[in-house]
Amino acid sequence: MYPFVYQALSQRVVFGSGTIDQVGDELARMDLAKALVLTTPQQEETGRKMLEALGARAADLFAGAAMHTPVEVTEKALEQVNAVSADCVVSIGGGSTTGLGKAIALRTDLPQIVIPTSYAGSEATPILGETKDGAKTTQRSMKVLPEVIVYDVDLTMSLPAKMTVTSGLNAIAHSVEGLYTQDRNPVISIIAQEGIAALTRALPVIHERPDDAEARSDALYGAWACGTVLGAVGMALHHKICHVLGGSFDLPHAETHSVILPHATAYNERAVARELTPVASIFQSESAALGLWTFARRLDAPMTLSELGMKQSDLDRAVGIMMNNPYWNPQPLLEEDLRGLLDDAFFGRAPGASL
Ligand code: NAD
Repeated sequence: MYPFVYQALSQRVVFGSGTIDQVGDELARMDLAKALVLTTPQQEETGRKMLEALGARAADLFAGAAMHTPVEVTEKALEQVNAVSADCVVSIGGGSTTGLGKAIALRTDLPQIVIPTSYAGSEATPILGETKDGAKTTQRSMKVLPEVIVYDVDLTMSLPAKMTVTSGLNAIAHSVEGLYTQDRNPVISIIAQEGIAALTRALPVIHERPDDAEARSDALYGAWACGTVLGAVGMALHHKICHVLGGSFDLPHAETHSVILPHATAYNERAVARELTPVASIFQSESAALGLWTFARRLDAPMTLSELGMKQSDLDRAVGIMMNNPYWNPQPLLEEDLRGLLDDAFFGRAPGASL
């Protein structure tokens, strides 16, 4: 066994079907009486239902959460927190809504109950990414780790099949990098494999039958496992690339993860093939990268950066940003190799084609 340090995070997790009915009890358990419910504009209806269900414990609804947690949106939400003297936030939605709840918690220390409806995994992490004036910065702080997660499978049934696939691949990416990261540990590696296996079972079924409750349950369980990995250990090249492409080129979050994952995995598999063996085994493939690529194709996931709106003329600039501030990665970061990786991802070639 290799030496390791593992800091477990403390969170209460409620998982099941119909669990949204328990949110009021969770508030009562923490002696909270004035919840500000958060959603995106698209999920306002779900937020209104929550407001009704919470009755006297609900203060108001803020339905303005947006991708990449813009600081202007947080400031607007904070005005509402103050106006209604909220004593907690209840975030219902994907990573964007969870991000807003975290941004409020960072500034107010208010407790958070998160009800995730996608597989992004933010609810299980002490990480917050925010954007201001077009630049995205990320920080880790225990202040933003949600106190309670309520996973209700029923709320994920409406996640469109296409988003289910990309969101699921986004989750798998956390676990793939968690297996080879510098501060990996044996407990988190087991959780990572469990998460990848659950999503690998579930996604093809949901792709065919989006209302398959058992597969939805498996997928949400897998997403929790993968989020736990992201919250517990550091990431590497794959997450860095997606951060740059999302933050500086405005590419969509989950879709970018879907396109990049096989290519970043091929890049690193040269250095950490042993750590990635469980991934190759789950996909019954000769390599983790090829297994991930074939899986994504089978699910009709986006396969090219070009279809996400990236311009070929921006690839050099993207590599420049990625090389600019150095970070740990198992395979040395070489400008030429990175450029090849982006080129493969841009055109949708097989992973590792340019390496
Ligand atoms: P998202 O939250 O932006 O959701 C995309 C759209 O889908 C939104 O309109 C949302 O309302 C809608 N939606 C979500 N669940 C739905 C459902 N069940 N039914 C119908 N519509 C639904 O996208 P995301 O991929 O979940 O999250 C991406 C954001 O989360 C990014 O900003 C990313 O940086 C952040 N993120 C942060 C962390 C972290 O640890 N800090 C981890 C992962 C992602």
